[in-house]
Amino acid sequence: MDDSPMKADIAPHLAWTSDHPLGYEVERAEGPFLFLTNGRRLIDFISGIAVSSLGHRHPKVLEAIRDQLEKHLHVMVYGELIQAPQVQFSNQLADILPPSLDCVYFTMSGTEANEGALKLAKKYTGRSRMVAFEHSYHGDSHGSLSVTGRNIYQDPFRPLLPGITFLPFGDFEALTAVDDQIACVIAEPIQGEGGMRVPPPGWFKALRTRCSDVGALLILDEIQTGFCRTGHPFAFEHEEIVPDILTLAKAMGGGMPLGAFISSTKKMESLRRDPPLSHVTTFGGHPVSCAAASAALQVMLDERLAERAVWVGERIRSKLKHAPMANLRGRGAMLGLDLPSSPIAEQVVKTCLNHGVLLGWTLHSGTVIRLAPPLNIPEEVLEEALEVISSALSQAHAGHGT
Ligand code: PMP
Repeated sequence: MDDSPMKADIAPHLAWTSDHPLGYEVERAEGPFLFLTNGRRLIDFISGIAVSSLGHRHPKVLEAIRDQLEKHLHVMVYGELIQAPQVQFSNQLADILPPSLDCVYFTMSGTEANEGALKLAKKYTGRSRMVAFEHSYHGDSHGSLSVTGRNIYQDPFRPLLPGITFLPFGDFEALTAVDDQIACVIAEPIQGEGGMRVPPPGWFKALRTRCSDVGALLILDEIQTGFCRTGHPFAFEHEEIVPDILTLAKAMGGGMPLGAFISSTKKMESLRRDPPLSHVTTFGGHPVSCAAASAALQVMLDERLAERAVWVGERIRSKLKHAPMANLRGRGAMLGLDLPSSPIAEQVVKTCLNHGVLLGWTLHSGTVIRLAPPLNIPEEVLEEALEVISSALSQAHAGHGT
C-alpha cells in the first residue's frame, strides 16, 4: 500500500531536500501518535528525530506556551532585556548540570548551538585548528558542516573551515593527534546519524584527559543524546566526564525550536570582550520556546524519564531478541537496528509504515534503522509497535532468504 501523494501535487512551492519524501499530511499529533489527513494513525517511533521525547502536545508544555503567549513574544535581541522564561530555564539547567557548566547561551537550533560552541573555543583558546570524528553529524550550516565527518555532504560546499582533522571514533591511539595547536575537539557521546555508535568503554575518559593535557576544549554535542534519551539526563554522565562546552537542542524545547551552548561563566566571558557582542542572535532563546522548555524539563524530572528511557530500551531489546536480524545497538531509548543491507532496511521501514509505525534511517548509514520512541510512550502502544516491527523483520528475513 503506497497511498502517499506526490510533492508536486500538494506543495509545489515548498523546498523539500529529501529525495523520497513520505508526503503524508499530518492533521494533528497527540502523545505517541500522528494522525494523517488520509484517516490513518501512525505510532511515532522516531519522535520527530529525537525531539518529541514527551510525546506530542504534552499538556504541561501547552499550558506554559499559552501562559507565555499572554505575556509577550519576541521583545529584543537575545541578552539585552531580561526575559523571565530565559532566566528561569537557565537556572533549571544549572541546577542539573555540573558546576563548570553554569552559563547558558540560547540559540534556535542545534547547528547554531554548535556554531557558537566552535566560535567560543576559538575565542577562548586563541587557537583555530579543530578535531572531529568520522561519521559524525553536527549540523548543516558552514561551521557545523566543516566538522561533520562525511565527505559526500561536505564536498559540494568546499571550501569549508580550514584546519579540521577527522579521527576514527572510538580509536584510543588516534587521540595523539590532539595536540597543543588544537582549539577544540567536538564529539557526540553516541553517534546518532552515524548509526547509533557507542564508543568503547574508557575512550571518552582518555579523550577528556588528552584535551585537558594539551589545553584543547572538549565540546560534547548532546543535541540528540540529551534530555534523558540515553538513560541519564545527559549522556556524558555514562562516561563519567564533564565537557568544557555542551551543546543541546531537539528535545530541549518540548516541541518548540530551541538550542543552547553551555560552558563556564569564565569561558563565556570571552564572547563579551574584544569586541563586545562577539556572538549575537535575534531569535535565540525565544520566550515561548524557553517557557515550553522549562515546563518540558520539569516533566522529564517529575516523571523520571531517564529511568523510563532505560525501561523502554530494555523492553525493545527483550521483545526484538527473538526476531530475525535484530542486531541492536545504542543506549536507553536511542537505539539503531543494524540490518544486513539497505534494501532490507528499506523494506522493514516500509512494512512498518504500512502497518502504522513510523521509523526512519540514519543519515550516514543506509542499513541502520533508528528506534527512538517518546520516552513516555504507554506500554500498550510500545507493545503494539514492537509487534509490528517484529513481524516486519520476520517478513523481510523470509523474503530475502537471509
Ligand atoms: N548535532 C546532532 C548530533 C544532531 O543529531 C543534529 C540534528 N540531527 C544536529 C546537530 C543539528 O541540529 P539542527 O537540525 O537543529 O540544526
